[in-house]
Amino acid sequence: MTTDEILDELQKQFPAAHCELHHRNAFELLVAVVLSAQTTDDSVNKVTPALFAAYPTPQDLAQADVKEIERLIHHIGLYRNKAKSIQQLAISLLRHHNGEVPSSMKELMELAGVGRKTANVVRSVWFDIPSFAVDTHVERISKRLGLAKVSDSVEMVETKLKRKIKRDRWNEAHHLFIFFGRYRCFARHPQCEDCAFASFCKKDKLASYKEQLLKKKDSDLRKVS
Ligand code: SF4
Repeated sequence: MTTDEILDELQKQFPAAHCELHHRNAFELLVAVVLSAQTTDDSVNKVTPALFAAYPTPQDLAQADVKEIERLIHHIGLYRNKAKSIQQLAISLLRHHNGEVPSSMKELMELAGVGRKTANVVRSVWFDIPSFAVDTHVERISKRLGLAKVSDSVEMVETKLKRKIKRDRWNEAHHLFIFFGRYRCFARHPQCEDCAFASFCKKDKLASYKEQLLKKKDSDLRKVS
């Protein structure tokens, strides 16, 4: 299958694939993406209405009592670090961009707590600039579908996806991969029955590569102890 055919098939399965983090502006999206690290969009969506009602602007968030931010987001994992992180983010937005969210990769990644994935999501979802954010779903799907090698780093996956997928489909592909990973091609127990990609899927190869990595880590740890 060509990459276009893969995307067309996914488009048929998930015609409404979109960013599931609730937001009304770039600032809310940026904060929501930072909060979503190592937790689900669903849990972030449960805490952001109260958070954004209390602190609707970077200025409000920058001046907030960090204990109060913690209280508002304490249902999500790592909430103490995340409370500090989003406050620092608000401060850096005010300091360097007058409270406006920039759209360039460089400026986004210079903001406190913003990494490559977060910057790519904001560029793609809010600014509609062709970008490819590689999260855990995108990485797994790309490797299972053979668009990247099982041993590729996240950066390599991004580079290969950008090379293999037409630029005007990057934003669409990002959402399609996430929906496929979130609702069908799960990390554990994917729904492989009748999958259109089963004939070339690298699920087993990826699983055995990960198993080898774990064994190596285990034996390295034993050597140290
Ligand atoms: S066969 Fe299973 S693991 Fe492979 S792409 Fe389809 S759903 Fe995912």
